[in-house]
Amino acid sequence: MVDVRGAHKMFGDLHVLRGVDLTVAPGEVCVVLGPSGSGKSTLLRCLNELEVLTGGSVRIDGELLGYREDSSGTLHRLHPAAIAQQRSRIGMVFQRFHLFPHMTALENVMEAQVQVLRRSKAAAKAKAVELLERVGLSDRMDHYPAQLSGGQQQRVAIARALAMDPEIMLFDEPTSALDPELVGEVLAVMKDLAAGGMTMVVVTHEIGFAREVADHVVFMDEGVVVEEGAPSSVIDAPAEERTRDFLSHVL
Ligand code: ADP
Ligand code: MG
Repeated sequence: MVDVRGAHKMFGDLHVLRGVDLTVAPGEVCVVLGPSGSGKSTLLRCLNELEVLTGGSVRIDGELLGYREDSSGTLHRLHPAAIAQQRSRIGMVFQRFHLFPHMTALENVMEAQVQVLRRSKAAAKAKAVELLERVGLSDRMDHYPAQLSGGQQQRVAIARALAMDPEIMLFDEPTSALDPELVGEVLAVMKDLAAGGMTMVVVTHEIGFAREVADHVVFMDEGVVVEEGAPSSVIDAPAEERTRDFLSHVL
């Protein structure tokens, strides 16, 4: 479903991704671990075309992200509209919720459905109601973000991403900005999504979640994948010194 090959990303002279390969199978939950600055957010942003790779490729369900390949194998950058179309298939949830402050929870979940997918307001509303119920917010639909806890806002953000019917969901430290007592409710929604078969790439420091939910754990450091495999190997029996060192700080 996700196939990253030889991904490099430079910001000026800063070489942030240094040849990342990553494969995520359909329905798989891939958890990405790694120290701050190791390139985890940059990798997710490249998967969602918020950043353009300097080298290498990303394929989603076989389709090259950002480029069209002609019969001679030459790549041509896609038009912005085609890139927006690809991006709409990939949902992303950030550490900070980025809800529209002047819109209710319901309106936040309706907005892109109407603006980007051109759904009717009635269809968008029906979908938003269904998703807000699914994330446990049926009694908060008419609240504004400022009237919601961080955990509730993050659940609205997840519902908003799901409203686009994404094939893949990317989560970038979705619980890092939350008070500890609110982390569980967001992780519960993510577990429910995983159980429903969603393909997910999750950057998190929640090792318990990784152990319980991940099919595949990737440990990144300094822009490369240092080690990957099942949680029982990467988390419980890491082969690499750098992985052990990292885990000793977060466990
Ligand atoms: P992580 O999410 O693992 O903490 P990031 O992907 O956010 O790491 O960042 C990796 C490195 O890339 C850091 O040194 C960061 O400062 C740098 N970086 C990230 N985004 C940009 C950008 N837009 N411009 C310049 N440097 C960036
Ligand atoms: Mg980050």
